[in-house]
Amino acid sequence: MINQHDIPVTEVDLGPGIRAFYTSRSGGCSVGAYEGLNVGDAVGDAADAVESNRDALGAFTGTSVNYLRQVHGNAVVDVTASDARNSRTPGAERQADGAVTSDPAVALCVYVADCVPVLLADPVARIIGSAHAGRPGLEARIISHTIELMVCQGADASRIRAAVGPCICPRCYEVPAEMALRFAQNTGTVVSQTQWDTPGIELRVAAHKELAAAGVAQIVHVDVCTYESGELYSHRWSTHHAEDTGGASGRFAGIVRLDVPKK
Ligand SMILES: [Zn+2]
Repeated sequence: MINQHDIPVTEVDLGPGIRAFYTSRSGGCSVGAYEGLNVGDAVGDAADAVESNRDALGAFTGTSVNYLRQVHGNAVVDVTASDARNSRTPGAERQADGAVTSDPAVALCVYVADCVPVLLADPVARIIGSAHAGRPGLEARIISHTIELMVCQGADASRIRAAVGPCICPRCYEVPAEMALRFAQNTGTVVSQTQWDTPGIELRVAAHKELAAAGVAQIVHVDVCTYESGELYSHRWSTHHAEDTGGASGRFAGIVRLDVPKK
């Protein structure tokens, strides 16, 4: 019997007083194409399974986890503890792709299956952020918008540390040639070549470049491809294996929180 608090995660170091990690498929109760710890709603999984997985992740994280209704835009919200409590219920999340908080009672969650999950923290000002940075979000500068709200609240970009989590790699992210060219032009990256000898795009490089341009110097990568790893959810992999998955995929999470200061 697995203890519900025992969720395997990949920790990333965003500085003293900050806890940040990425989940995988492991540790949850979803079944079928969603098998594992799916925390995404609106992907076709059973709502009670998603709620149960969110409860397990909340218990593991040790505080209320805030979920957003992510729409590939560039809106950023300041999240309160009541937002986080409400967002546990699938369908009740605030709509945005970036989140910021300075409240230790709130953990920020970005959930993905190929898009780039970016976690941010200024450990001195004790302000954290998260960004859902897929292809449209990167073109809409979601990472910069998230950093701007952190800076408005007292963070200093030069102190911010960032984690760029698992995402689909350029050899696996096939898009139409026009889209690849536009993305490359908009993000200062190059059109890559996929394993199928078709045009692809560099999500991870685009995220890194945007962070650096915003003044973030301390950037860590969890350089794993969601498409190639069997441990992570991948929308593209599920689409390419629709005979087994029905084209459906769950979502894994990036989580960042402030530790409660010791008295
Ligand atoms: Zn790949």
